[in-house]
Amino acid sequence: MGSFDRVVRGGVVVTGSDTVRADVGITGETITAIGLDLATDGAEVIDAGGLLVLPGGVDPHCHIEQLDPDGSSYEDSFAQASAACFAGGTTSVITFAAQFKGQRLGPVLAEYHRRAAQGMVDYSFHQIINDPFYAVVQEDIPEVVASGVRSLKVFLTYDDVRIDDRQYLRVLAAARRAGAIVTVHAENYDAIGWLTEALLKAGMTAPKYHAWARPTVIEREATHRAIALAELVDQPIQIFHVSGPEPAHEIAAAQDRGLKVWGETCPQYLVLDAADMDRPGFEGAKFVCSPAPRGQAESDGLWQAIRAGTIDIISSDHSGHSFYKEGIGKQRNGTDAPFTRIPNGVPGLAARMPIIFSEGVSKGRIDLQTFVRLTSLNAAKLFGLYPRKGTIAPGADADLVLWDPTRKVTITNNLMQHAIDYTPYEGLEVTGWPQITIARGRVVMQDGVVTAEPGSAKFLARGPYDLIRPRGVLPNGFDASAIMI
Ligand SMILES: [Zn+2]
Repeated sequence: MGSFDRVVRGGVVVTGSDTVRADVGITGETITAIGLDLATDGAEVIDAGGLLVLPGGVDPHCHIEQLDPDGSSYEDSFAQASAACFAGGTTSVITFAAQFKGQRLGPVLAEYHRRAAQGMVDYSFHQIINDPFYAVVQEDIPEVVASGVRSLKVFLTYDDVRIDDRQYLRVLAAARRAGAIVTVHAENYDAIGWLTEALLKAGMTAPKYHAWARPTVIEREATHRAIALAELVDQPIQIFHVSGPEPAHEIAAAQDRGLKVWGETCPQYLVLDAADMDRPGFEGAKFVCSPAPRGQAESDGLWQAIRAGTIDIISSDHSGHSFYKEGIGKQRNGTDAPFTRIPNGVPGLAARMPIIFSEGVSKGRIDLQTFVRLTSLNAAKLFGLYPRKGTIAPGADADLVLWDPTRKVTITNNLMQHAIDYTPYEGLEVTGWPQITIARGRVVMQDGVVTAEPGSAKFLARGPYDLIRPRGVLPNGFDASAIMI
């Protein structure tokens, strides 16, 4: 041996299934050996003594440099968001290419490719389908999927981007034909609209009423419906950002029946609270995201669903809106804007893995293997990146995080390394922190210093894979998705 470019020596290697003391040999961008006392002659040695060696995080749901219909974009550039990823131990992301009404998908996707290539973190996209007109369904979706973007995203709510049930069925059918998974933002659009109208008329406009406009029942109903319609089409789906046990139960019930339905949650539903939106003045706007953060009972219920395997992925749902800048971000419509006019979403690229490690592993709720599955392996598998990403194995990309499981850190915004001027997790104490991040064989972060070069990102094209193949079970045997409508 002795042929490695780098050897990560003396750490404890943790994958989704194992914890072993071993060295990791890296040649170029690839892991080429895992073994005891690997030869290090000629290799750069990276000392992992006292550290865990984890697969680089895969964050399969984050909004980076996403465009709004008015042409403005979320504040993080791909380069800045990449730094945040590496600072928090994440080495791959799936972000979004957003179609707006009337747009064909080809130019939309090309624009996002152009932007993402300027970053450092490896990336793929979920193609957001906002307007599934015939040419999009017939021509564009098959082309997008064939190009390696093997997941579509739909919103069942939000004025600008929601699709109705009939359109959702068209997207499910198109995904089934093309061999893609569909991810779903599940909240009931009309119920939110009705409650919002009443709240505004009653003068209840403060940030906290964001949660009042979208109680859990609205998410549970939409989750149930999203699953039922997916069952009708026989199309695998993932429910995004499950906020509590009620929607999780809908997913569990579907999984019990053998449906291909997966669930994701995010740190904001585990450590934030509806009461955060009731902080004085406009402060509550920092925490406005959808679904809304709930409470302790919901967080406890989510941990239960995580342990049961109902929810098997934790993403950041990172959304880059600053809080303190006048005229943009959360203040886009002023500091007395009603909750309906506060941009939704919280930043969280760098905070994701430390929070899940601390709240999960350090507090004894989950074991190390479960942590790796939640933050890396399962997303890689569900979205077709495995075994290149999500594990530590010969042949996999050398994406590693050297993790100090005992280090105590108080989260502050400057540790997050995003372009956003606040973190909703300010002041949260965590135990466990990434010390070194290695992406495709290069050390890209050490002790908080990011050294990667903008433009070093790679697009992760995703080919066909078995996990998301439809089951072949249709309610009455008639496959309507085979007919182009
Ligand atoms: Zn999102």
